[in-house]
Amino acid sequence: MRLYNTLTRAEEKFTPGPDNTVRMYTCGLTVYARGHIGNFRTFVCVDVLRRTLRHLQHYTVHHVMNFTDVDDKTIIGAQKAGMDLRSYTDQWIAAFREDAAAMGLEPVESNPRATDPENIAAMGAMVEALEQKGHTYRSDGSIYFKISTMPDYGKLAHLDHEGMKPGVRVDSDEYGKDDARDFVLWKASKPGEPSWEVAGGTPGRPGWHLECSAMALQVLGAPPIDIHTGGVDLIFPHHENEIAQSECATGHQFSRFWFHCEHLIVDDEKMSKSTGNVRNIPDVVKAGYRASALRYLLLSSHYRKQLNFTWESLQQAEEALRRLTDCLARVAAVTAPGSHPEIAIRVDEARTQFGDAMRDDLNTAAALGAMFELVRSLNSAVDAGQLGAGDAPVIRQAFDGFDQVLGILSLRQAEDEQPPVPVEEIGALIEARHAARRARDFAEADRIRQDLAARGVLLEDSAAGTRWKRK
Ligand code: AMP
Ligand code: ZN
Repeated sequence: MRLYNTLTRAEEKFTPGPDNTVRMYTCGLTVYARGHIGNFRTFVCVDVLRRTLRHLQHYTVHHVMNFTDVDDKTIIGAQKAGMDLRSYTDQWIAAFREDAAAMGLEPVESNPRATDPENIAAMGAMVEALEQKGHTYRSDGSIYFKISTMPDYGKLAHLDHEGMKPGVRVDSDEYGKDDARDFVLWKASKPGEPSWEVAGGTPGRPGWHLECSAMALQVLGAPPIDIHTGGVDLIFPHHENEIAQSECATGHQFSRFWFHCEHLIVDDEKMSKSTGNVRNIPDVVKAGYRASALRYLLLSSHYRKQLNFTWESLQQAEEALRRLTDCLARVAAVTAPGSHPEIAIRVDEARTQFGDAMRDDLNTAAALGAMFELVRSLNSAVDAGQLGAGDAPVIRQAFDGFDQVLGILSLRQAEDEQPPVPVEEIGALIEARHAARRARDFAEADRIRQDLAARGVLLEDSAAGTRWKRK
């Protein structure tokens, strides 16, 4: 299988580590808000990578995706909400888990939180190792990484080392540095902020870059890990600094492959919490779309190309997904006996094309193309009466195989089997609507009915009471 490696700026043959195992790390969500669909573009593409490694290549995957649960944004958020940091970040982690399930992300093997005691200890140990090897200095109670001690700093982002002169501000929020390029490992905490004591009892909190380096190695073990992933915005400075810390502390390469997903954009701007152009998964569902259609959209174009989000493209994704499910329903409904060797040949061709496309740096567009070519052949065969019930199992098996990798059809089916609104909520809304009617507030009663309809639930009134059904 070939994968593009940001480190070498080239597609390379990917081989797993010992025992056919792939140890992989993904920079997870900073948990101060609900993740937006831009974040989920990266998470879905990484999920497709993970599924390809497992289900197509049959490797054993040990995948770590962290939660960044301490940084400036989480601390400020918790202070504003009047909550302690842990309870504050708990709610955003719960929201992430809901959204991840809705988007069909396979659960990963490990979801460490930066503030878990064993991870804080690993961060302390990494700072100590860096101090012992002369890569750090202290200033105003904080500990910094001194970039001039690492000759190949900048190799991931392909920075011109000479061109990065001191005085060019790289991180804007840190003072007390010898050189503007240096970055903080351990931040002196301000009064009222959470703090931990590591590295000779220095009270403070970890820098973001340190969190990921330490968690990756603490959970996955000795470097190099096999693949490190995230969105392209993380290449610099975050991943560059992760390399600097991990490699200087351990003396070994940190990660063999670096996998970066391009951005989801809206009107030529990156979707981000700071720009305010964000939409999250519940927003998309409230607008009448299904998470499976969003997953389809997010994975349908190549992960190294920007994807412009529009409601029209989401509608097209919905229609494409329906063409797949309609075809499978037609195939399942065929009752004519017998099977046709040419169908088995077509299915086999599609399987080969699908596998080749996915092994070619996850060419999802070509893989979907192979599926749709097969759909066209199958629809024609059904129309011409050249498909028998005996052909169905081989077809179903092929689509199950495609879907283990893409995760769209099974997600669709799970959605179909589940009411679009939790049953308890529907019950409570039916009660609220009855109460509104008794109070002769018909506008409110109508609003409740319309709100449920927009979310895919229809209410039917009869003498026996009110029943609901899926739209
Ligand atoms: P954050 O919570 O900001 O640390 O981001 C979590 C993940 O989402 C990181 O891997 C980011 O690179 C990624 N990400 C953030 N914004 C976008 C976007 N608009 N499109 C794709 N990925 C993104
Ligand atoms: Zn990270």
